[in-house]
Amino acid sequence: MHVPATIRLTGGLMFLAAIAAPLTGGDPFSPLREQMVRQIEDRGVRNPDILRVMRATPRHLFLPGDLQSGAYQDRPLPIGYDATISQPYIVALMTELLEPAKSHRVLEIGTGSGYQAAVLAQLVDHVYTIEIVPALAQSAQQTLRRLGYSNVTVRQGDGYRGWPEEAPFPRIILTASPPEIPQTLVDQLARGGRLVAPVGRMGSQELVLIEKKADGSLRRRSVGPVAFVPMKPGGR
Ligand code: SAH
Repeated sequence: MHVPATIRLTGGLMFLAAIAAPLTGGDPFSPLREQMVRQIEDRGVRNPDILRVMRATPRHLFLPGDLQSGAYQDRPLPIGYDATISQPYIVALMTELLEPAKSHRVLEIGTGSGYQAAVLAQLVDHVYTIEIVPALAQSAQQTLRRLGYSNVTVRQGDGYRGWPEEAPFPRIILTASPPEIPQTLVDQLARGGRLVAPVGRMGSQELVLIEKKADGSLRRRSVGPVAFVPMKPGGR
């Protein structure tokens, strides 16, 4: 029988992971996670804090049971309701572009599985994250609580409105793609702050970094092409 090389490789790694489990504190996914992080590092993300956090975050536990075996492949995976958990490399890249610091309060639009929020939570003071699909908001909140990420607040709602009660935010990240960056979110970005977002329509999105200077002026830089789920218009 012909078995594609990638599947054979994954199967082998799963086997290795299982026999290595007693050596890795009982987490059979540790070797796969280590390989995922090495791949991210090879592609140019060098911030040691981000690599450490991605090594420590159990990505498989943000996925339904039947998808957990693929959790450490470098690709997005469907989590239902037209949502995906983002590709690990893109999570790392966006986190690096955000330049997170321990003092930061971060606004995330598009909680999805809660994985990106969990990565950020380990690098900043607090993550405020908004998800439009009630079932996803609820399950992400449960996952984050169960795994002990106590500095994340999940809200079910429309990301286009932002989170005015907690604004301004020194850092804002969008993980769903609007056709253009909503002005409300730019307004909720603090001076000296950074906003990272996939912008544009399906098939022609780019990752954009916005810096708001001390005088309130904006600098916009395009980082490269990406493919995210579109941001839903919500209740406007
Ligand atoms: N950050 C997520 C990936 C999210 S995929 C993770 O780490 O798993 C994008 C998410 O944005 C989806 O869950 C989708 O339901 C949500 N979304 C789409 N439009 C939205 C909106 N207007 N407001 C808030 N969330 C939105």
